[in-house]
Amino acid sequence: MKKTASVILAKCNQEKKLYGIRIEKREDDWVRTWAFKLQEEMAEKEGFDKTNFSGSFYTDDEYPGCPYCGAKKCFICGSCGKVNCYDGTDKVHCNWCGAGGTAYNDDSKMDVTGGGY
Ligand SMILES: [Zn+2]
Ligand SMILES: [Zn+2]
Repeated sequence: MKKTASVILAKCNQEKKLYGIRIEKREDDWVRTWAFKLQEEMAEKEGFDKTNFSGSFYTDDEYPGCPYCGAKKCFICGSCGKVNCYDGTDKVHCNWCGAGGTAYNDDSKMDVTGGGY
């Protein structure tokens, strides 16, 4: 059986380094199954920087977390829509565009507000 899978780019909140998250389509949802360190040149070459996804994202039990700091959660920036790892603190900072905001945990709807932090 053929699986639909792809890779989204993310940055580590602590190490400020790039990594890839492998996602797999299961019914209508995307499930994060794997994460690996990635070089920017490699991401460009593979076209990972041009992918866009919408829908619900879930984390598989097997998902190892961020390859740098081990954080299993992610937050999606409300300003640029890119992904950062998220260690559970309530204040977040986007490593892509520099926006700050408040993150909510996975139990509530993911929502990030920018502003005077
Ligand atoms: Zn990390
Ligand atoms: Zn951002």
